[in-house]
Amino acid sequence: MQEQKPVPPGTRILVVSGRLHEDADSARAARDLLQELKRQYIELVTAAGAVEALAVVESEPHLQAILVDWDMDEDAGHAPAIALAEAIRARNAGMPVFLLAKRHDGAPVPVAVLRDAEGFIWLLEETTAAASGRIRAAMCRYREALLPPLFAALEKFTREAAYSWHTPGHMGGAGFLRSPVGRMFHDYFGAPVFGADLSISVGALGSLLDHSGPIGASERYAAHVFGADRTYYVTNGTSTSNRVVMNACVARGQIVLADRNCHKSVEHGLCLTGAVPVYLRAHRNHLGLIGPIPPAALRPEAIAAAIAQSPLAAGNREKPALAIITNATYDGLCINAAQAEDWLGASVDRLLFDEAWFGHARFNPLYAGRFAMRGDPVAPRADAPTVFATQSTHKLLAALSQASMIHLREGRAKTEHARFNESYMMHASTSPQYAIIASNDVSAAMMEGAGGRRLTGEAIAEAISFRQTMARLQADFSARDDWFFTVWQPDAVADGGTILDFAEAPPALLAADQKCWMLEPGAAWHGFPALEPGYCMLDPLKVTIATPGINRTGGLAQTGIPAPLLTAYLAEHGVIAEKTTNFSVLFLFSIGVTRVKWGSLVNALLDFKRDYDGNAALARTMPALVQKDPAAFGGLGLRELAQAMFDAMRDARIPELLQQAYNFLPQPEMIPAAAHDMLVRGQGVAAGLAELGDGCAATAIVPYPPGIPLIMPGEGFGPADGPMLTYLAALQEFGKRFPAFAPDTHGIELVDGAYHGLRF
Ligand SMILES: *Cc1c(COP(=O)(O)O)cnc(C)c1O
Repeated sequence: MQEQKPVPPGTRILVVSGRLHEDADSARAARDLLQELKRQYIELVTAAGAVEALAVVESEPHLQAILVDWDMDEDAGHAPAIALAEAIRARNAGMPVFLLAKRHDGAPVPVAVLRDAEGFIWLLEETTAAASGRIRAAMCRYREALLPPLFAALEKFTREAAYSWHTPGHMGGAGFLRSPVGRMFHDYFGAPVFGADLSISVGALGSLLDHSGPIGASERYAAHVFGADRTYYVTNGTSTSNRVVMNACVARGQIVLADRNCHKSVEHGLCLTGAVPVYLRAHRNHLGLIGPIPPAALRPEAIAAAIAQSPLAAGNREKPALAIITNATYDGLCINAAQAEDWLGASVDRLLFDEAWFGHARFNPLYAGRFAMRGDPVAPRADAPTVFATQSTHKLLAALSQASMIHLREGRAKTEHARFNESYMMHASTSPQYAIIASNDVSAAMMEGAGGRRLTGEAIAEAISFRQTMARLQADFSARDDWFFTVWQPDAVADGGTILDFAEAPPALLAADQKCWMLEPGAAWHGFPALEPGYCMLDPLKVTIATPGINRTGGLAQTGIPAPLLTAYLAEHGVIAEKTTNFSVLFLFSIGVTRVKWGSLVNALLDFKRDYDGNAALARTMPALVQKDPAAFGGLGLRELAQAMFDAMRDARIPELLQQAYNFLPQPEMIPAAAHDMLVRGQGVAAGLAELGDGCAATAIVPYPPGIPLIMPGEGFGPADGPMLTYLAALQEFGKRFPAFAPDTHGIELVDGAYHGLRF
């Protein structure tokens, strides 16, 4: 018999049969076969019927083959076995499925079996050795087919471990073993991390810079999975992906239509390219959440007007070089992308959708039409704009930090590879991290075919369960005139003609119908003006929890709980949130989330409520906070602190000033690149807020929350008592009053508690 590779540790086979214990010849033969497989270090998992079997298939990633009893149910004939094989293949198209049958009775094999099963094991006709050999061979083929191009090559290369004389200097980890601290580092991460840490000189793996070999094959594979004409892997995050696209599309002095609420990498791209930005603006709601750019702002008339009104862009007759839209937003708002493409396409030939948060969209029909790479790429679209999407694979999918992809669909502004790659290389390291590249490869493989639908479907189902649990708790408490946190989501959904409370809606409806998540114009819950029907929807995976104290029109109550206090409390109880604003906290339901995890979040929120209602001593409930400043917090209870923070926030009018500051569009005095040039030349002076009045910003200022630039380099601060500086003054005062909760503001230095910015 041919030599077999050893099975990897943990390899499992699922056996589906309720009759293995019986005294028939065939049951005995089946037991012998299973015994033989166990002797080869394969673990067996058993299931008595189809329901149990499918649950194992969905939850057991170590499975490498399934053996199904051909006579599972004597009364129903072979139909149950055939149906099970089909259901398994629908969940995992490559999984080897064998049917355990007694002996060939000469009857024709049903077509469905030929399609969905590897074949029969004739228990009374084959030797155990032959049968187990066939199973092992199928498992081996399955494992090999499972691996995407780069991971397969990397795994093979490191398994065969050639002696190397190239960088990195630790040489497969050996370098670390020569010092005590190096040894600890090596043992912490484990040998494979270092074995796979290779140099671009390893020809066998190809090169990221020229997209060759297995790395190039992997990028082409990802393009197929993510629906792009071409895909480029980036190992320094979507921050770099955005800068690459901008450098490839924008020449000095060209106009860029940029989402005003863009990520800071876009601001950096503006500095690098020397672009003239014209901003597309969105509203903020009562919670300080950023809305979508309203449809009216994307239409050609509005864009022409915005260019005409910009002192830097007016008079520039060249067509804008690029438009950049954040979709979905941090808070999970995603727009009708086809519509946005049509509207913007009237003004510009290249579009960049910053989909840092939206890599999962293509894999679940709930997001149909809401992302850039829709459908399958067809022949070049001469009448449509060229479209880029940049995605942080690491944010919502499973990949290592910094793993990112640039996807491209060619349109009328042809972007040839050779030209584009010049900008790509400008931002790429010549020593990329192979584990990051391989994690892009594996992420694509996880999302391909039935896997992507299943993984996104499971994450959506968990998010819906959590949202409905929270809505039910909220309804229970409010029936007793008591308070609880609310989830920012529609209050009710339509099921056919019936309107149901969100908590009562069938989960299957919420998982399938975009209408349940739509921000319809005028609906009170979302708080955004200027929308159109069906334009913008909330991604259920982004869950925003609102704390009490502010109503839907921005009015403040007498009592309230600032969200930064909730976030600090949760952190002390082992729950780390994604983002916090004044009255909201964001939680991500990525494909890594589980019921146990969100269950403990619900418990922690209920604990907070208990401690708040009982004004429990901070010394007991938030000891780490008290340790920071015993004099300030030692004698306080949780409710007292919440109220003191709330009063300070209300007295300083922070929520209202935030909205005013972001609704005010500062006057540009020079393009961001010119401001950056002056900064590099050492110009600009540090000044307190009062002295910043009527000055020009030398750097961007980015308050956290919400972490979006308030002012861009080269823009005027406005008067000392204008919206911008008044808001910063309010943040400064709040920070002085509660140093432990001082807002973090990039672009501002604290000098004795006073804010200092850099002005020209
Ligand atoms: C996080 C983020 C980025 C940057 O992505 P990294 O992978 O962290 O570099 C870009 N755009 C948006 C909208 C983001 O939220």
